[in-house]
Amino acid sequence: MMEYDLIIRDVTMLDKGYEIQEHVDIAVSGSTITEVGKDIQGTAKEEIKGKGLLAMPGLVDAHHHNAQQLLRAKPIDEYPMIWTRFLVPFESSLTEEDMYISSQLSMLEMIKSGTTAFADAGGPHMGMTAKAAAECGMRGVIARSTMDMGGNIPDSMKCSAEENIRLTCELFDEWNGAGNDRVRIWFGIRQVMTCSWELLEMTSAKAKELGTGMHAHLCEHKDEVSFCLTNYRLRPAELLEATGCLGPNLLTAHNVVLSESDIALLAERHVGTVHCPRSNLTNHGFPKTPRMLQQGLSIGLGSDGAATSSLSLWDEVKVLRNGLIGYWGLPIFDPVVIPYRALLRMMSQGGADAIMQGDSLGSIETGKKADIILLDIDQPHLTPTHNLGATLVEAACAGDVRHSIIDGKVVMKDRKVLTMDEEKIMFEASKAMKQISRRAGI
Ligand SMILES: [Zn+2]
Repeated sequence: MMEYDLIIRDVTMLDKGYEIQEHVDIAVSGSTITEVGKDIQGTAKEEIKGKGLLAMPGLVDAHHHNAQQLLRAKPIDEYPMIWTRFLVPFESSLTEEDMYISSQLSMLEMIKSGTTAFADAGGPHMGMTAKAAAECGMRGVIARSTMDMGGNIPDSMKCSAEENIRLTCELFDEWNGAGNDRVRIWFGIRQVMTCSWELLEMTSAKAKELGTGMHAHLCEHKDEVSFCLTNYRLRPAELLEATGCLGPNLLTAHNVVLSESDIALLAERHVGTVHCPRSNLTNHGFPKTPRMLQQGLSIGLGSDGAATSSLSLWDEVKVLRNGLIGYWGLPIFDPVVIPYRALLRMMSQGGADAIMQGDSLGSIETGKKADIILLDIDQPHLTPTHNLGATLVEAACAGDVRHSIIDGKVVMKDRKVLTMDEEKIMFEASKAMKQISRRAGI
């Protein structure tokens, strides 16, 4: 008789084709899904009754800033420049302790929203983010904020290209592979306006040497394109190509102001692309998502941190669907410009692809890592429905996630996060928020 570590019995499941399967058992051994099927024979150390629940792959927040959690709601209804008036003084005032509590609060919110893995584009003291992820059981792909130029960046936030590479290598040596390989360290390219040609070249070469990834903000707004054309006579994607950065180990966040040739270039180089719908649609415009999908790009979703919104990808996906239908669909009378299956893919497999873990994450399949969330579907906004997959995109929310399993371990049961002290974290975070604001003068 087979003995598993965990079995989820008789559950409704979203399969890899984004179809709903009923009465499924899912068996887990160690950190891996070892069997998916009907009436699995065998026992388990832990059993979850799946009746009334939907099992789906854990969500991947593929562009996030753990450092901005304590900036929540500060930039709302403010005029530009948000970056110079709020972000720069805030981020440059963070201590190691602030980063630790900020990361803990952010991970608590992510777990409670069904997110099981995140990619952090970088802030200060990223070792604290790595420590928090290793401790709480989350999967994190973590970069250090990397900048060596830019007029409105204080000296404390930038350093020479060599120093930037050295500091990321230090972080890599200390944390890459921590927490049973849940923590991975990547290189950061904050954005092309704050990274020199030399830094871009050195970053791509070092990432290749270490076999790791790079996380960049790309084509977020028109200023960035204008900067690149003025200084290099190249568009941002072409600059990354010229400096050796474009490839499958590059994750680009935002991708709003892409030209047709940019899209073709990113697709040809198999770059992992990510949208941050609430951040993009309120500040920068509507990405050409339907065209990007048509060209074969894999797309993930990101929250871009909590400064202006929440970390719920359920909220992101609704905004993206409605925004894209309104902007691209309505003018040409095409209501299916972005099908719900494509959106479900962006929340899971698309994000997993972007963090270079598409083979082991992103769907519930034998052999993949057991990153599984269970939603309470016995609720009036979800049941009954003619199409549960579509209803997930349209109506499900963070509070519907009942249990969360990451790397085979139950990290949230009945909405209680087992790996963190929720009350203590919120208390300490409130204290830290006031202190940082005073220090930063914001
Ligand atoms: Zn960002």
